Order: sequence, then structure tokens, then C-alpha cells
Amino acid sequence: MKWTNRYNIDPVIAQAVMTDDYEAVGDISVTRLVRPPQITYLEHKHEDELEQDVVDGLFALEGRALHHILSLARDETRLQEHRLTVDYNGWTISGQFDVLYQLAPNQEHILKDYKVSSVWSHILGGKEDHEEQLNFYAYLARENGIQVDEARVVMWFRDWMRSQVERDKQYPPLKVLEHRIPLWAPAQVETQFQAKVSLHQIARGQGIYPPCTPEERWARPDSWAVTKAGAKKAYRVFEEPALAKAMADSMSGYEVVYRPGENARCAGYCSVVDFCQQAKELGVVRKEG
Ligand code: SF4
Repeated sequence: MKWTNRYNIDPVIAQAVMTDDYEAVGDISVTRLVRPPQITYLEHKHEDELEQDVVDGLFALEGRALHHILSLARDETRLQEHRLTVDYNGWTISGQFDVLYQLAPNQEHILKDYKVSSVWSHILGGKEDHEEQLNFYAYLARENGIQVDEARVVMWFRDWMRSQVERDKQYPPLKVLEHRIPLWAPAQVETQFQAKVSLHQIARGQGIYPPCTPEERWARPDSWAVTKAGAKKAYRVFEEPALAKAMADSMSGYEVVYRPGENARCAGYCSVVDFCQQAKELGVVRKEG
């Protein structure tokens, strides 16, 4: 990874951003395993060419800072920042969950992972990754003789604003939200885990991988908003222009505003967009900053 500091961010902050204290173990981590194989493959292939500016690493720094502070709050009833490995098909797969609550032998063992996210990237996508990731952690735990009865993800929204809660139904009601993640049947997790490892092995060994799906690209289709003339907020949004036109025509003072669709992850949240043929074919325009 090559770093730039185009905005001359303070050297201490810049150094903290550029210091990666993550210790890679094995052939792939669960975090990389749950990402689309195309992203993991391109990151691996272009590791030395990837360029990131310090300003783009500030969000990750916030996440690392929060994890660091939370890891200081230790207690003997909890297993925290615990690293596990499993071997499959010649690879060692590692995973480190944030906390496992082991309140008492006869009580439920609850595994939790903390995620720092912007409100909109949470609303737009990525939740499926959490479900798979936590199930893979539970799989690693079970394979290492650790009981897991329940899994939860704790979302920490870095840009949460109380004033937005009333305005948008999708908006999280609190800065910190906890979701229960369904635990899959052990046989299902094992099959999915092994299939994912095989997919990444084929990608790394042969350069063959499936394209990212619309869900993985956090794709939003084109839409047409029925809006009161001059207002910013839509009255209704349709994916069919004819429906939007029919509604606007039936009401006085309303118009139809076209909203182009986008692949939000490609445009703003994918480190390999400059090396991705699929993104070029989709006409993705990278959002700066
Ligand atoms: S740019 Fe988009 S299509 Fe390409 S790897 Fe990233 S998410 Fe997938």
C-alpha cells in the first residue's frame, strides 16, 4: 500500500493512520473471506500498487481507536479479541472476534462484534457480510471447542445525528445499536465456509472469480421522484417512470425528478475500483474524499 498525504494532515495523525498494527495470520482472515472474492483477489494482486490518502484512512483509524479502547475494558467473565484458526484444504483461516460473554457455564455464551460505520453505508448494504462473518467466527469457535449460543453485532454510527431520527424511518434511533444475528445450523455454516475458502483459493491460484453481485456492489437502480416543485424531499419515489408521471400528473404543483442509480460500494467504498474491469464496464465514477 502506497500512502499519500495530499491535505498535509498533522504528522502524528498521519503516522497513526499509516501504522497497520494488524498481524496477519494464516492464508486468509475471516474478514477477507466474507468479502467478494473479486475485491480480495484484486487487493492481493495489486497490494504494492494500491494508493490511499491519509484522509481516506481516517475512518478506519476511528474504528481501530474504538476497538482499542473497548479492548482495555476487560473482565474475567469475557473472552476478548480472541484469535482462532482452522485449517481447510491446505489453507489456514484465521479469525478474531471482539468479545464472547461467558457469564456462567449454564448460561448462554454470546459472541459480539463491534462495527463502526456511517449511517448510510449501514443502510445501503453490508449487513449480509455481518451475518456470514459472525457465523464463521462461531464456526471457528466451535471447531476450537468454544461454545457459542448467540451472536450479535453492535453498530456504532460515527456520523449519527439525533435531529435525523424523526425525519427518516430508516435512520437508526440510537448512536449504538445491537442486532441479533441468526446462527446457522452447524452443517450449513461448514458447507458455506468451505465453499467460500474454495472460491478464494481458485481466485488466488487461477485468477478466476465471479463478478460482484448487485447486493455486493450496494447497487441502487435508477428512480423517479415525485416532488413538489422547488422542494428537495420526494413525496414518492418509483422505479418505473410511467408510475411517477401518472402520480405527478394527478396532483397540482408536482413534478418528476430523475435520480440516476449507482453502485455505491464501487463508487465510494471499494479500495480496488481503479483496478476493477467490472467497475469500468459499469461506468462507475469514483467519488473523491
Ligand atoms: S469496484 Fe465494485 S465491482 Fe469492482 S471489486 Fe469493487 S465492489 Fe466489486
